[in-house]
Amino acid sequence: MNRYAGIVIDISHEKVDRPFWYRVPEELQGQIRVGMVVKVPFGKGDHTRTGYVVSLSEETDYDPDRLKSILSVESTAETTESRLLVLSDWIRKTYGCTGIQALKTVFPIRERMNAREKRRIFLAVEPQKAARELEALSPVRYKARRRLLSELIKAGEEGIDCTWASRNLNAGKSVTDPLVRDGLIRIENENEWRIPFDGTTIEREAPRILNPEQAEALGCILEEWKKENPRPTLLCGVTGSGKTEVYMELIQKVLDEGKQAIVLIPEIALTYQTLRRFYARFGPIVSVLHSRLSAGERYDQFRRAASGDARIMVGPRSALFTPFADLGLIIIDEEHEPAYSSESVPRYHARETAVFRASSEGARLVMGSATPSMEAYYKASRGEYLLTTLSGRYEDRSLPAVSVVDMRQELRSGNRSVLSRELREALQECLDDHSQAMLFLNRRGYAGFVSCRSCGYVVKCRHCDVSLSQHLNGRMVCHYCGYETETPSVCPVCGSHYIGGFRAGTEQVEKIIAKEFPQSSILRMDMDTTRNKGSYEEILKAFAEHRADILIGTQMIVKGHDFPDVTLVGVLSADLSLNEADFRCGERTMQLLMQAAGRAGRGRKPGRAVIQTYHPDHYSIQAAASQDYESFFRAEIAFRSLLGYPPAAAMLIIHGTSEDQDLLSKGMHFLQLFVERIREKADVTVVGPAPESIGRINDMYRMALYLRHPDQKALIHIRGMLEKYIAINSGFNHIYIQYELR
Ligand code: ADP
Ligand code: ZN
Ligand code: ZN
Repeated sequence: MNRYAGIVIDISHEKVDRPFWYRVPEELQGQIRVGMVVKVPFGKGDHTRTGYVVSLSEETDYDPDRLKSILSVESTAETTESRLLVLSDWIRKTYGCTGIQALKTVFPIRERMNAREKRRIFLAVEPQKAARELEALSPVRYKARRRLLSELIKAGEEGIDCTWASRNLNAGKSVTDPLVRDGLIRIENENEWRIPFDGTTIEREAPRILNPEQAEALGCILEEWKKENPRPTLLCGVTGSGKTEVYMELIQKVLDEGKQAIVLIPEIALTYQTLRRFYARFGPIVSVLHSRLSAGERYDQFRRAASGDARIMVGPRSALFTPFADLGLIIIDEEHEPAYSSESVPRYHARETAVFRASSEGARLVMGSATPSMEAYYKASRGEYLLTTLSGRYEDRSLPAVSVVDMRQELRSGNRSVLSRELREALQECLDDHSQAMLFLNRRGYAGFVSCRSCGYVVKCRHCDVSLSQHLNGRMVCHYCGYETETPSVCPVCGSHYIGGFRAGTEQVEKIIAKEFPQSSILRMDMDTTRNKGSYEEILKAFAEHRADILIGTQMIVKGHDFPDVTLVGVLSADLSLNEADFRCGERTMQLLMQAAGRAGRGRKPGRAVIQTYHPDHYSIQAAASQDYESFFRAEIAFRSLLGYPPAAAMLIIHGTSEDQDLLSKGMHFLQLFVERIREKADVTVVGPAPESIGRINDMYRMALYLRHPDQKALIHIRGMLEKYIAINSGFNHIYIQYELR
């Protein structure tokens, strides 16, 4: 029985207070639900206030005798807020965090931003009546009132601006207030939203005619939507197959029903190009969120959504919490992107959270990808999601021909360059043809790590367990904490002079290419060249306008961009990501390579991709080469089932961080013992504790404990017990624990 309720007083987007605990009185037992609006006594005088129920519980940490009781249920009607509160409660229970952390995630804007408002004055009576009233006013005492009224009579329905009236007619508050009181005029607030995206110059475009495959996919989805409980859809379509065109048709359908839509896009793919397309189709009802908005702009976008001024919200993960009153559709584009999973508490995943929001608000959910996540494809293959596919590119533009080059073979043949012979020739042909090329590297920096060829010593950061990256200025930098130091000229361990960086980074590749192809013009895009605001867009724009022949870059160049003149994509270091200490590294590698290859040949000319690797036989690389997602999925799911990894089983990762290595290690071992002792342990596999793949960042030690179980609910239950265990053990006071549910 839920005898206690956590209640937030006056929830609004400006301020989310902490919840206060109340007792659920006998007569209301069983009637209170999360999200309800209730009346409670509050503050010193026990004034009656309105509150929202944000959580329910059988027990409380407070003295029950000192808790006040809920007075009454004010409304059982659902509101946008109450639905978002239910969502926040679900996040808290599923991912493990405090009520406040969950509330702050769902209602991210806490400080009241000064809304920019324009105020206008209108006559509240017929002009004739206003004229009579004007006559009756003393020309001596009420000069300003007379001026104002006569201007208003002239202005007619337009009314006049408050600020203007105050400046030019000297009609400020002392003049308007009495006239408002007498019912002669009224003042209206006109919201002037801060609009982060200027679409006024964008020409509206008519809907495209779908090709037969797209139309069929659309038909399947609409058919599913007719069911009482439509399943989420996974739209699996190669890059350039027209997924976005299908999304836009679905959005139109939802708008026609008078509902609203959220379109999630990974931040990095959220470019002017993307927005332009949505704006061209739907106009100013499209709003956008992204990380570079000011707090005020962000606040206004949520208010626009709540007021109905915006009806389509395009944005990254956090746009999922847009307060639409009647949400009809959530779209998650590039569903496989790691950016959809939050790295900070609560570590929620946008896909699962969207599934919950959609089902509890009666909205529909469509996810799209060329390389779906294992989780989504697994669910689709079991019929939990509807699977639809777009197998061809629009207008049958062919997929690029992909070849794999074995770099070990290159070395044996005496080629020690970062460019294989095949890639060099392809590049030459591409340039001769006046086409464009993209060269993709898995890492940033001048040269990956610095190591000694004689003894194998690797130069690491003093504060983190990662190798330092060498930059052109002769210094080495840690990309985790920013620590910098000189590159040593002799090995500090064995004294050898053969120490240096051997793995090429973007900067070094740029130099090599510039030397080998002196006629070509090159752009480079990595963390270092995109640090300034706008530089990312600028580089993309320059390349899209063919102001350079070659674009060299890291991960950020492979996502979602459409460059019709690119006919060649070279992947210089395909397997760096295969060496990551993470069970998802095969999946990530396949996705990166397929996305990268997909950049080639998006225009009229056919494309080609060259993948350089040291592991030509690895199934991730093979799958990317043959553009065969299915075969990758079968190999990978077999591997994960065998080892009990998600999505074949559920996993709870307990991350521990502490300054004190001993304390951390002891604490994590106690957690392991605790889990092994409890009865619910049946079927739980415990692995670890072990240092994380990066065991130290900024002098904080990091360890993880992995729990696996066929059923996610069992793990959520165990987490609840762990939370209590940790809360009452002072040994954990200096260990920061986070939970990650997979
Ligand atoms: P995806 O989202 O799957 O990568 P897009 O929707 O971006 O694919 O489509 C790729 C390109 O083909 C875009 O420039 C798009 O405008 C064009 N395109 C796709 N389908 C059609 C269509 N039915 N009619 C006209 N152009 C289309
Ligand atoms: Zn050495
Ligand atoms: Zn560091």
